[in-house]
Amino acid sequence: MKKHNFNPGPSILPRIAVENTAKAVLELEGTGLSILEISHRSKDFEAVVNEAVSLFKELMKIPEGYHVLFLGGGASLQFCMVPFNLLNKKAAYLETGGWAQKAIKEAKFFGEVNVVASSADKNFTYIPKFNIPTDVDYFHITTNNTLYGTEIRHDIVSPVTLVADMSSDILSRPVDVSRYGLIYAGAQKNIGPAGVTVVIVREDILGKIERKIPTMLDYRTHVKENSLYNTPPCFAIFAVKETLKWLKSIGGLEKMSEINNSKAQLLYDEIDRNSLFTGTCEPVARSIMNICFILTEKYKQLEEEFQKFASSKGMVGIKGHRSVGGFRASTYNALPVESVKALIECMQEFEKMHA
Ligand SMILES: *Cc1c(COP(=O)(O)O)cnc(C)c1O
Repeated sequence: MKKHNFNPGPSILPRIAVENTAKAVLELEGTGLSILEISHRSKDFEAVVNEAVSLFKELMKIPEGYHVLFLGGGASLQFCMVPFNLLNKKAAYLETGGWAQKAIKEAKFFGEVNVVASSADKNFTYIPKFNIPTDVDYFHITTNNTLYGTEIRHDIVSPVTLVADMSSDILSRPVDVSRYGLIYAGAQKNIGPAGVTVVIVREDILGKIERKIPTMLDYRTHVKENSLYNTPPCFAIFAVKETLKWLKSIGGLEKMSEINNSKAQLLYDEIDRNSLFTGTCEPVARSIMNICFILTEKYKQLEEEFQKFASSKGMVGIKGHRSVGGFRASTYNALPVESVKALIECMQEFEKMHA
């Protein structure tokens, strides 16, 4: 049966990227070696890194003065690497979900943290209003809250260095990179497979800290060595490059954003129409990438049954995060509109059976 992959991460990748990566596992074109076997110091692999960096720069229209890095440790390591490199005395954070809370926890190891606003009071179902203080080293936001399904889908203006965890919505829309000092994202949602984290950093924000930074945790090490200071995740970087090639081939971020908006619109319309289901987030804050919904009070007891019904129709990964319950459909870049339509059909059939 055809599967519809709504996994929240690792998640669906473009088929062509998976196929090309599979080929490279057998042989990296023209080298006689597998991508799993080649030296990260070879010119063949250096070409892979360089192409991935240059595709990133092209797709995101990254201005001069920024570097694109491929690092290990996941987005979670960035929760501590950011303050390690940027927090002298005080930083401001916006608390919009579980990932933001984890970032805040790590920042507190390095200095004072001003949580400017939080939506914890309503289980992170909205984006709180906030003011950005000017007496801080940086302001940290999570642009998309993967677990709860809210998103800041525009580039905010910040009077201080703006740092963004874009793990689950990077490359889903055009971004004005010049507004940000640093952007980071674990690859396994919208960029590629697990194992690599992308960091986009403006050079002039680095080197301003008083503390000493261990070599591997210092962004300047990786800037200087073009992400090749130590052995990088070669395989994952190759797959990222293939995903970026696909993104370029379909028309880049403007086109991607259009497609993502229309996929999300279809599903939210059905959630709002269907008498069995209801969305969990404030409509203005709804994420385009992680669409959370639950059964209404009257039909609550059908949760397990819908889960089973949807699985029987090929839906994968729609169980909501345990902190929300219900369902979450992750509609990342590579998810085809056909999968969204298949889920909608499921919901409609289920409504006919029960309403
Ligand atoms: C998945 C996710 C993370 C954690 O990523 P890891 O690479 O697993 O460390 C952090 N922030 C956000 C917004 C995420 O969606």
